[in-house]
Amino acid sequence: MQQLRIPGPTPCPPDILKAISRQMINHRGKEFAEIIHDVTAKLKEVFQTKNDVFVLTSSGTGGMEAAVVNTLSPGDKVLATCCGFFGDRFAEIARVYGAAVKCLDFEWGKPVDPDAVRKALKDDPGVKAVLVTHNETSTGVTNDLKSISTIAKEFDKLILVDAISGLGSIDLPVDSWQCDVVVTASQKGWMVPPGLAMVSVSEKAWQAHAKASMPRYYWDFTSAKNYLEKGQTPTTPAVSVFFGLAVALDMMLAEGLPNLFARHARIAALARDGVKSLGLSIFPEERYASDTVTAIRAADKLDVFKLLKLLREKHGVVLAGGQGSLAGKIFRIGHLGWITESDIKQVLHAIGEVIPQASS
Ligand SMILES: *Cc1c(COP(=O)(O)O)cnc(C)c1O
Repeated sequence: MQQLRIPGPTPCPPDILKAISRQMINHRGKEFAEIIHDVTAKLKEVFQTKNDVFVLTSSGTGGMEAAVVNTLSPGDKVLATCCGFFGDRFAEIARVYGAAVKCLDFEWGKPVDPDAVRKALKDDPGVKAVLVTHNETSTGVTNDLKSISTIAKEFDKLILVDAISGLGSIDLPVDSWQCDVVVTASQKGWMVPPGLAMVSVSEKAWQAHAKASMPRYYWDFTSAKNYLEKGQTPTTPAVSVFFGLAVALDMMLAEGLPNLFARHARIAALARDGVKSLGLSIFPEERYASDTVTAIRAADKLDVFKLLKLLREKHGVVLAGGQGSLAGKIFRIGHLGWITESDIKQVLHAIGEVIPQASS
């Protein structure tokens, strides 16, 4: 069997594969209404929120776009905290829709510094919203979202969070951290195929929504809310992915959130220790290393492209390379969702086997 260990799409357990192969049903019928109400209630448990939660048919980026266009107006000042590829994407979405985006940039591999966020908000009282990537998948960094959101709230700002590769795997209590819009996507820690983005919307986000004038049609939260009251979505949803998500949520809640987070932390520690014992080093500062994706710095003599090819062809292990400016410089192991200690041990063993052949 192939070991698909990229940070999404992630492998699906057999019960989920079975669920997504079910015959179609009427997405405006009673059975779908029961599924969407059940899924939404269980998502709220995993998001640890009483806020509204909507399931959008799109990849994660659609959820990021929805967060922006539903809460902001052209010309609004936005503080985008960027420490990698996906932070840049969030900033770009806001810019495309006409926000006045100020990027607070951090070197890739370093986390967002909460003190720098405080200073930026102090320096510019006109900022309306702060954009944050909870878990920066491109560099394997988990930001200190709790501190960042606490600061954003001291200044009474909206906080929009890309938690796409962290939520459901790393603790993110949406209500106690007062995050206004939080986005995740089905193909990451949720163990289901790509196709759904899940977003939570706070009371403060609804207040912003009432005044927000960025253009929106497909992403409109008011429309999502009106349809959800009838057990529907505004347009045809990815019905099969919903079938899978219903099963996934039962599995996640049966494991229990503390156990789920602890398993990811344990496996991530195993990955980091294993990588170091192979003589490689962790790309980010280890204190901020992610529990869902480990980014590894390629030693001088290691050819990342050759390493990935050998792993794939000789061992059936599929890992990710670096994105953007990190291509060829790092490689990444995704360890989120359906993963055990034995999976990560197999991956580490395979890496150890191919290093000599991938080194010059
Ligand atoms: C995967 C990912 C995205 C992009 O999600 P898509 O589903 O590919 O649109 C955005 N942000 C983060 C942090 C991610 O890990």
